[in-house]
Amino acid sequence: MAKECAVCGKTISLLEKSVKLKYAGAHLCMDCGAEAAGLYAQADELPQDAADGYISSVKKDFYEELNKTSYSPYVKSMIKDQLIYTIAARTGRKVSICKYFRAGFDECTEVIRASCSAVSENYIQLNPVIIGDVKQCTFVCEKIYLMRSDSYVSMYVNLINTGGISVITAVSAGGGNGLSNIDWGTEKAFVSEFWKSVREKNRGFMEKEIEVADPSNVKIDQSMALTNRIGILGGTFDPIHLGHKALGEAALREGGIDKLIVMPARVQPFKQGKKSAEGHHRFEMCRLTFEDAENVEISDYELNNESLSYTYDTLKFMQEIYPDKKLYFILGTDSYLKLEDWYKGLRLLENFSFIVGDRPGYREAELDEAIKKYRSKYGTDTIKITADMPDISATEIREALKADKSIGHLVTEAVERYIRENGLYN
Ligand SMILES: [Zn+2]
Repeated sequence: MAKECAVCGKTISLLEKSVKLKYAGAHLCMDCGAEAAGLYAQADELPQDAADGYISSVKKDFYEELNKTSYSPYVKSMIKDQLIYTIAARTGRKVSICKYFRAGFDECTEVIRASCSAVSENYIQLNPVIIGDVKQCTFVCEKIYLMRSDSYVSMYVNLINTGGISVITAVSAGGGNGLSNIDWGTEKAFVSEFWKSVREKNRGFMEKEIEVADPSNVKIDQSMALTNRIGILGGTFDPIHLGHKALGEAALREGGIDKLIVMPARVQPFKQGKKSAEGHHRFEMCRLTFEDAENVEISDYELNNESLSYTYDTLKFMQEIYPDKKLYFILGTDSYLKLEDWYKGLRLLENFSFIVGDRPGYREAELDEAIKKYRSKYGTDTIKITADMPDISATEIREALKADKSIGHLVTEAVERYIRENGLYN
C-alpha cells in the first residue's frame, strides 16, 4: 500500500526513504521529516541500563527541540509518541502512553464508544466488551477490551473516574503491560486511529500524556484537572437551598467543569403576591451556600440587568466573556425535559451544552430519551450527573418560615441564620 506523508500528503513510493513514526503508524517524507529525524539522535543511543534521571533529561531536551519545530500539534504528538516508543525499545522499559480528558463519566464512555465505532469501519467488525459494573464502582470503573470478530484482541481501554477527572488509557498491549493473562496481538496503528478519533470527537480532549508501566493502574494527578468547561447554575434562588448546593457540587465533581458560576436571576418584585427576597439578599445567600467550595463564583450579572434576562441571552453574553470555554448550563431533570419550550429554546439547544442532574430512579427513561433526541436533532452535548439531590422546593421553605417551623434540614446553617437575622420571607 502506498504511504502518504503525514505533513504534506505526498505519496511516498516503496523505494523512497521516509521517517517512520512506527508507533503512530505514520510516515513523513524526507523533506518534511528532516527536522523530526534529527530529534531522535540522543534517544537512539540510550544504553539499555540508562538511569531514570538520564532518560528524563533526554526527554526534556527532545520536547524543547520539538517545540521549536513548525509541525502541527497533531504531528508533534505523533513524534512524541515515537520518542516514548523508541525509549521503550532501547531500554526495555515498560511504558504505555495514556491520554486523557475530563468529563462526566457518561460522556467519557460515549466518546470511547463513538471512537470505537469510528475505528471499526476500517477494521471490519469490532465488539467492545465491557467488563465490570460502571455504576457500582467509584474509582476504576470500566475496562473495555476491544476485539475483532475472530476474538483477536486489538486494544485495551481503561476508563478511570475519580473526582471528575476521567482518564482513558488505550494501549496496544504488546506484552509487558501487566495484562499477561491475555495473548495479545496488537496493532499500533489501530490505537493511533482510536486516539485520533477521540481527539476529533471531543473538544475537551487534552493533549497531555502520562506514561505508566501498567495502564490498569493509572494514578490521577490533580494537575491534569485543567479543562475548558464552565458550568452555570441559574435560578431565582429564593432562597437557595441544599438541593441547589448538591447539584452545583455534583457538577463540579462529576461534570468535569473548571469553574461553577452561580447566577441568581432578577425577579419581578411583586409577582403574584409572592413575597420575594431582594436581589442583594439572594446574592448573599448564594455566596454563603458556596463559601467553602473552591472554584465557585457568584455572578450578579442578571441581578444588575435592567430587564429580566433569558437564559439564552445570558449564555450568549457569558460566551463573549469566555470565548475559549465551552459553557454548560446546569439543571435538573424536570427543566431539562422542557428545554424545547423555553424562550429561544431551540437556539439554546443548538448553541450550548447541558449538565443534567439525574436523581436515581426519577424519570430516568424519559431523560435518556431526551438526551438522545436533543443530540440527534440539535447536536446538543449533555453530561448526565448522578446528583444525590434532596427533593426540596423554595416554596416549601418560605411556607415553613411563615408557619415558624424549622428549616435547618433545607438550607445551610449560614443561610438559615441570614434569613432570620434579616427577617426575610416573614
Ligand atoms: Zn512531506
